[in-house]
Amino acid sequence: MSTLYADVAIADGTSPQLQLDMSILVREDRIEWIGPSGEEPASEGPVHVVDGSGSTVVPGLVDSHSHLTLPGGAHWIDRGFDPPERLLEVAEHNARLLRSAGVRWARDVGSPVRVDPVDGRQRALALGVRDRWQGHREYPYVRAAGTWISRGGSLPAGLADEVADGDGLLTAVIRQLDDGADFVKLYLDGPDRETSPFTAGEVARAVEAAHARGAKVTAHSGTLVGARAGVGGGVDSLEHGFQLDKEVVATMAEKGIALVSTLAVLESWKSFGRTTTIDRFADPALRSQIAARREWAQESVRLAAKAGVLIASGTDFGGGSLRANQLAWEIESLVAAGLEAWQALAAATRNGGLLLGEPDAGVVREGGPADLVFVHGDPLSDPACMWRVWLVT
Ligand SMILES: [Zn+2]
Repeated sequence: MSTLYADVAIADGTSPQLQLDMSILVREDRIEWIGPSGEEPASEGPVHVVDGSGSTVVPGLVDSHSHLTLPGGAHWIDRGFDPPERLLEVAEHNARLLRSAGVRWARDVGSPVRVDPVDGRQRALALGVRDRWQGHREYPYVRAAGTWISRGGSLPAGLADEVADGDGLLTAVIRQLDDGADFVKLYLDGPDRETSPFTAGEVARAVEAAHARGAKVTAHSGTLVGARAGVGGGVDSLEHGFQLDKEVVATMAEKGIALVSTLAVLESWKSFGRTTTIDRFADPALRSQIAARREWAQESVRLAAKAGVLIASGTDFGGGSLRANQLAWEIESLVAAGLEAWQALAAATRNGGLLLGEPDAGVVREGGPADLVFVHGDPLSDPACMWRVWLVT
């Protein structure tokens, strides 16, 4: 059985222009043909026609910064200590949220190490989730990093793989890869925010070891000192990059280091100032600190874009405050920071595919998977229409 999605607009993050009056022919979950409406090739057997008029087809979205086993919300860190059975239920719920929001790829950048209630293995929980979801179209495609590798004292004890020094960092990298991680996640905010938890040299040794195993390395970077150590050590990408400067983005461009933006996290914290009484969000002095962080984070995105750094985007759902169906918020946040809408769409689609090295992720092309998302309206003039998902195939 073939399906013809007729009379749609297409936006795939390669151009500021919509392609109008297009149709897409799908056969057995692959895109067989894309072209002007009315010119579709004769197809063998019956064709089911779906009238897509008024909507825009965008590629299945790529959430490049997600935490599948965690729910998000204002107590997001506490939730990491919930029982593993509960965290696996959360992952199932997140899969449904992701699909309904048109997110087809999830790059998981950290989950707690626990005994998996299903397979009995003690390792980062998202790795078992990834393995069990593979090959099931109702679930997202997952690439997972294992757990966070941090210097002791940086995160609440019992969440991450905590190490004491550069040697410990190297051992932990190997441990995560031996556990089956697709790539490695370093945590470059330290116990003292003014000092990077690892030197550029220590990061470089860890990166070399991961690359020798064919795995990329990414680094959580909330501070400028951590960003310097990360890019100095040659990581493949920085997560958040909330405090970048001209020098750091120039090095990123030169070395091909990507930025994964998560600006909507800071928008979310702003909203918690109204929906919670938690000091961190509600106290006026702390609210102004969040506002200052937001300004620098937006400036960092602008600097990176200007320098030609590849920008992918994520929600940080679960490992931060957002929920799994809110990638549209990041697209809007990138536009608010100064990107063109088509560039923000690229960040949430094709650039995520480039970051992952997955040619089928975040693209709409003949021969590719029929991971199509129909949004109501024009995402290139109105990014808010990314919230208005009508159909996900
Ligand atoms: Zn995160």
